Amino acid sequence: MKSYRKELLFNISGRRAFINITPQVTECLRESGIQEGFVLVNAMHITASVFINDDESGLHQDYEKWLEQLAPHEPISHYRHNRTGEDNGDAHLKRQVMGREVVVAITEGRLDFGPWEQIFYGEFDGGRRKRVLVKIIGE
Ligand code: ZN
Repeated sequence: MKSYRKELLFNISGRRAFINITPQVTECLRESGIQEGFVLVNAMHITASVFINDDESGLHQDYEKWLEQLAPHEPISHYRHNRTGEDNGDAHLKRQVMGREVVVAITEGRLDFGPWEQIFYGEFDGGRRKRVLVKIIGE
């Protein structure tokens, strides 16, 4: 069995963003040389997500609005977590909703997606360097 590991780096200037990372994961898969197996992609930070959905800008605006309704950033004082001196209480909740990781099957050297599936990095507390782990196992 082969094993491959890589960290993708992000430094989002704004507070929130959704980035299609399918090209980077596809490049990792190519580098790994693995034809049959699984890839795990996970955010290594508790205020960021990795998820799979459609690369459609209207949907991403819908996510932004929906998440902001569920866990508005302001008022900061609304969150007990922010009593620690942080201002990212909302980002922890948004991350929980959008998820930590995805697993995708690899078949014949390709990501074995359903129709329209793409892998996204979701940032909810940007302005600093963050990492995403890509781990691939198989043969
Ligand atoms: Zn925090």
